Amino acid sequence: MSRHADLVARYGSPLYVYDLDRVTAARDALLSSLPEGVELFFSFKANPHPEIARALRGDGRNGCMAEISSTGELAAALEAGFDGSQVLYTGPGKTYAEIEAAVDAGVAMFSVESPTDLQHVGEVATGRGVVVDCLLRVNSATSSAATSIRMTGTPSQFGIDSETLPELMPELRTVPGTRLAGVHLFSLSNSKDEESLVAEFRNTISVAARLEREAGLPIRFLDIGGGFAAPYLTPGERPVYPNLRAELSAILDEHFPAWREGTPRVACESGRHLVGDCGELLSTVVNIKESRGRKFVILDAGINTLGGMSGLGRLLPVSVRPAEDDLPEGAGPAEQEVATLAGPLCTPGDILGKNVRLPVLKIGDVVGIPNAGAYGMTASLLMFLGRPAPAEVVVRGGEVVSASRIEFVRTYQ
Ligand SMILES: *Cc1c(COP(=O)(O)O)cnc(C)c1O
Repeated sequence: MSRHADLVARYGSPLYVYDLDRVTAARDALLSSLPEGVELFFSFKANPHPEIARALRGDGRNGCMAEISSTGELAAALEAGFDGSQVLYTGPGKTYAEIEAAVDAGVAMFSVESPTDLQHVGEVATGRGVVVDCLLRVNSATSSAATSIRMTGTPSQFGIDSETLPELMPELRTVPGTRLAGVHLFSLSNSKDEESLVAEFRNTISVAARLEREAGLPIRFLDIGGGFAAPYLTPGERPVYPNLRAELSAILDEHFPAWREGTPRVACESGRHLVGDCGELLSTVVNIKESRGRKFVILDAGINTLGGMSGLGRLLPVSVRPAEDDLPEGAGPAEQEVATLAGPLCTPGDILGKNVRLPVLKIGDVVGIPNAGAYGMTASLLMFLGRPAPAEVVVRGGEVVSASRIEFVRTYQ
């Protein structure tokens, strides 16, 4: 039996498989593309699986820190071995209860997105008798690169408008329980190439330097966000950034000449680039039918299992291939046809690909959807239509190191 079919036979279908060797390879490659000393946050929202987070944390010296924004992600970070001092807590709608849980777990740095958000963090910290570091998340009036997801320059629930900062500073500086530590700018996701990534960092860093100069905002910690890209659900390689290290060093030298001595500490963030290519979703063809001249291939994985969030209102860029080692020895490229790839849910929205090129499949075939390690299962409509969550199998060096399944349980109170 092939490895994929074997995993499906043991753990069921659909099934996520995550390869930790790829996780550490992505982390090491990204860290070596960054200037020495620049720190890296892993954004848990891309994939909060504790084994993945543990692999990214590494031995604590050459690893990632954790960027989280819920109590669930906090629990995952703690389970993965992060301690509070390695965690940045972000998000525009932090409740008192979650700020309390974070402070109690030793989280000592928050990104705050509005003056009231800062107040709330300060109230909790004061009640606990501690002072926490706060980064002001800034919604910059300017931005540079072309991007698929843009979060600055327009009205937004994220961040404090940069133009209002000079006038807000006296109020922001004096919130009991908090100490302003610097800024957090996150303006770009999945940049189209290295050039736009560098252009965005150039803009971000100059905005930060201007805020320090003109608004008197002290910057001991500078979080310049991310934008590192990754292929999603289609074949492709994780991009490399051969010029980033030199370019980013030069930009930092220009605006923050003491950064190499740690003033400020500089960090960036990544989710998809670190974990996108570690994951593959295995799914089984459960039915094939024709309707009015069109062929439908129905999988046991739909938007309840894969990318449901991004699937709302638009089609995913999904491509499937026969699970690699299911191909007979010496087989050429699989024969292809055009068909619509549907999930099992009772909604017309459960379409993974309309009239896409697919290998010719039959009922029972196991297919693999590549580059599904980020924004896969937990970015999906897991509860919708009440199917069980897929199992998640973690492998390292070709060996299964863990297999688990998230359960939904209704508890009455
Ligand atoms: C989502 C998010 C990220 C990660 O984005 P990727 O495109 O997955 O790298 C980083 N920082 C913040 C603040 C985010 O909200």
